[in-house]
Amino acid sequence: MIAQLHTLLEEKFQEMIDIRRYLHQYPEPSFKEFQTAAYIRSFYDKLGIPYRANVGGNGIVASLKGDKPGPTVALRADFDALAIQDEKDVPYKSTVPGVMHACGHDGHTSTLLTLAKSLFELKHQLAGTIIFIHQHAEEYAPGGAKSMIEDGCLDGVDAIFGTHLWSLTPTGVIQYRVGPVMAAADRFEITVKGAGGHGAQPHKTKDAIVIASQLVVNLQQIVSRRVNPIDSAVVTVGSFVAENAFNVIADSAKLVGTVRTFSEDVRNDMEKEIERVIQGTCLAADASYEYSFTRGYPAVVNHKEETDFLVTIASKIDGVDKVEETEPHMGGEDFAYYLQHVKGTFFFTGAQPEGVDTPYPHHHPKFDFNEKAMLIAAKTLGAAAVEYLHAHQQSKSTIQSK
Ligand code: MN
Repeated sequence: MIAQLHTLLEEKFQEMIDIRRYLHQYPEPSFKEFQTAAYIRSFYDKLGIPYRANVGGNGIVASLKGDKPGPTVALRADFDALAIQDEKDVPYKSTVPGVMHACGHDGHTSTLLTLAKSLFELKHQLAGTIIFIHQHAEEYAPGGAKSMIEDGCLDGVDAIFGTHLWSLTPTGVIQYRVGPVMAAADRFEITVKGAGGHGAQPHKTKDAIVIASQLVVNLQQIVSRRVNPIDSAVVTVGSFVAENAFNVIADSAKLVGTVRTFSEDVRNDMEKEIERVIQGTCLAADASYEYSFTRGYPAVVNHKEETDFLVTIASKIDGVDKVEETEPHMGGEDFAYYLQHVKGTFFFTGAQPEGVDTPYPHHHPKFDFNEKAMLIAAKTLGAAAVEYLHAHQQSKSTIQSK
């Protein structure tokens, strides 16, 4: 059946590319993916696979019940884009100013849709149910996963698999990891409140730009001097805003940033240490501040049995040259929530563009990936789902007959 599935996927490779390029031209940001959701719904409508729409927001959950009884496995793809201006020079570049599929979620969606279509053709051989989770809003906390789970997308699911196309890893490589594989991603906001004034009279002010600049530098010492080198953490200030006229000293400045960690202890420490640095820096300048720390996604923690299972499957896929353990990534992913509810694994599918030595990273205005990786991802996810159903068919039907 796997061989048949893979042949079907290969036959649909052009369609897979077409879907991806269409979605790439019409990206929508997190929580506003209305047209993308409509596109996915109409795909399943045409196919005749039943689905539930508006699951936890814009999410869609399609369900393919095989003709034979068996367990239920879920596959997940996200479909939101980012507030980034597409700077690529390709025919399929984004047509929406300031919005771009800069993380490959268009590819995830195309991969899953084409896989659903192929599996539908093999329905009579399928022993169990495959759930296709099309998740909105992965890029922006609180994300779509949590609300989709609350809305029942994992009901009856025995295991879940998901992948991320990864432009920095060569195409043909599958990367896995047991345990924490992606970081907890939290957000902080700091407003430095100084005292503005005339640009020529700094002594009568508390220059919020100077104070906030010191703060940006001082925050770098948390990771280098407060966190145990054996642990991992990131503090990034991604936004620094103090809009003003050129000859005026700023009254306030706002910093917004992200913190990444793998352990809950380090995560808690980071929240406190950041405030300690703010207090000290503002005290020295006689300024005040506002600080908020908002918890985003927890760390993605893969289950051992399902990860080992995936490794065995992936090694047999045509087009996969190498299956290797990856270092943990500091990026965040709300796939974390699924793994808190059901067993499963999240892996990376290498998608480095051909003929490119230094690929653009994810979330870069020129990000792109090798579309051949979608076929590899579809084959791997498809084989994992089918093999999982068959491997667990016996145990499940024994339970059901009791
Ligand atoms: Mn992503």
